[in-house]
Amino acid sequence: MRCPSCGSDNCHIIEEVESRQKGFGFFKGCCGYLILGPIGWLCGLCGMGESHTSKKAFWICNHCGRKFRV
Ligand SMILES: [Zn+2]
Repeated sequence: MRCPSCGSDNCHIIEEVESRQKGFGFFKGCCGYLILGPIGWLCGLCGMGESHTSKKAFWICNHCGRKFRV
């Protein structure tokens, strides 16, 4: 991988894990409540944290310190 800023190929990759469990769980619970009532709300809350983490990979240039997406 080449740095878009300085052109150096002295770069390394880092990964950041993003988690949005709470917001998604609450949103899901509300949807479940609207569709199925209180039971749906509980099911929505139980199902939170299933697949709401997203991995982001970045490259960091060792030469100029620039951070850029893959
Ligand atoms: Zn650079």
